[in-house]
Amino acid sequence: MKTKALYTGSFDPLTNGHLDIIKRAARLYDELTLGIIVNPQKKSMFTLEERQQMLIEALKSIENVKVDHFSGLTADYVNDNGYDVVVRGLRNAADFGYELQMAQMNDTLFRDGVETVFLMADPKYSFISSSVIKEVFLLGGSIEGLVPDTILEYMKRNA
Ligand code: ADP
Repeated sequence: MKTKALYTGSFDPLTNGHLDIIKRAARLYDELTLGIIVNPQKKSMFTLEERQQMLIEALKSIENVKVDHFSGLTADYVNDNGYDVVVRGLRNAADFGYELQMAQMNDTLFRDGVETVFLMADPKYSFISSSVIKEVFLLGGSIEGLVPDTILEYMKRNA
């Protein structure tokens, strides 16, 4: 049976830290879906359509990766779509504290057999978050090497 994995985030925008986790998870599982979290309460730099377009462009060389989006409870989306694994990235102790709580809460909501699996961030990228990328970019600093080139070009074109 194929193992279906899900990696969620706002991807506002996708960073090289996310991309590293995506490439590694795509090697581990038969199918990996990127679930863009749609949260109207959270102010985003890019619209859902822009984020979808950027992700599809940046990930087109990885065969077993798909892009989807959802709103509401992650556990509902996981259960309704038959995912087996939810992949998360861990950058530091702060991530660990938050992620442990979320994984334990989700475990009470997931259908039987769904596991949250953690991949440790590559130290090259462990200081990167979408928020810090946006902050530096908006203040005119260089984010080259921290986001995929296609994303950087998209950001420059649409800024
Ligand atoms: P959101 O935008 O919804 O807050 P994040 O981008 O913070 O989502 O996180 C989505 C997932 O990616 C989380 O598991 C997070 O720990 C992981 N992640 C984010 N940035 C990195 C990075 N630089 N390296 C590895 N994992 C990361």
